Amino acid sequence: METPAFLDRDRPDVPDIVVPGGVTPFHLAGRPVRGRLIRPGKLADAILTRHNHAPAISALGGKALALVAGLASALKFQGSFSLQIKGDGPVSLLLADCTDTGGLRFYARQDQGQLDALLASGKQVTDRDLTGNGYLALTVDQGPEMDRHQGIVEITGDSLAEMAMHYFQTSEQHACWTMLAAKHTDAGWRSGGLILERIAGGGGSEADTDLSDGLDEQGEDAWNTALALAGTLTDAELLDDALPAEELLYRLFHEEDLVVGQSRALAYGCRCSKAKLSDVLSRFSDDDLDHMVEDGVIRMTCEFCNHDFCFGRNEVGALSVAD
Ligand SMILES: [Zn+2]
Repeated sequence: METPAFLDRDRPDVPDIVVPGGVTPFHLAGRPVRGRLIRPGKLADAILTRHNHAPAISALGGKALALVAGLASALKFQGSFSLQIKGDGPVSLLLADCTDTGGLRFYARQDQGQLDALLASGKQVTDRDLTGNGYLALTVDQGPEMDRHQGIVEITGDSLAEMAMHYFQTSEQHACWTMLAAKHTDAGWRSGGLILERIAGGGGSEADTDLSDGLDEQGEDAWNTALALAGTLTDAELLDDALPAEELLYRLFHEEDLVVGQSRALAYGCRCSKAKLSDVLSRFSDDDLDHMVEDGVIRMTCEFCNHDFCFGRNEVGALSVAD
């Protein structure tokens, strides 16, 4: 006999996808420029299609995934790196995060009334139309033992890339340039990003702390050249599965002493499981649990996977606490 769903303690039926070359770091030798090319490939489709969002919201989500994957890969941390946008637009909350091992998740809360009105207006919808006015936060969370590092800025700009660049202008010491794209293609949803950072010195060495090197005229020229070349990248190239990352980077920067680094994997990153949610439920009182029963079961939804976990009333409560 098949195990009834409410007795199944395994992970839900969510995609187990790993994209080996999801993020490709690079630098331009002898120049104060380093960057990352982010291409989650079919992973973008797997994550975005867990939800039935309007295409404009999925596109915003795809860009958010590329952004957090690119930013997280440049940091040394253990835990999760997250982007959170809270605004007064049709997407009242957007959350995308990436773990130190490249696990990606995305969630957007939408206001259906506002969204319907926006889509009915017939205008070309920008990321800003979706978020409205509010705040954008980037957070490194390394667990309860460690300090959380968080930066918050007001939402500024029409696109998510502009919002991110405003964040860097406000919060970071060095210049940063970002391009993000997401689109529904014949192969499903695809997203991608290119991030350039102006660093101290040349050659992409993180140990180089001589700021004066990177700020001279030559450094300025090299940075501007890199920006001009990056600006020729098209959405179509960025989202083309058939165009390998190295080849795309070579197209852009082959005259600038491009050095491509070791690529990093991205993966379907939700950590939800029935066992984890059972643990959450065990902290409620029996009275609370009684009130949570509907149609004979207690239903818990993972908002990232859009997956319902169902528990029989006798499965949860004081009895399920192990200690
Ligand atoms: Zn989940």
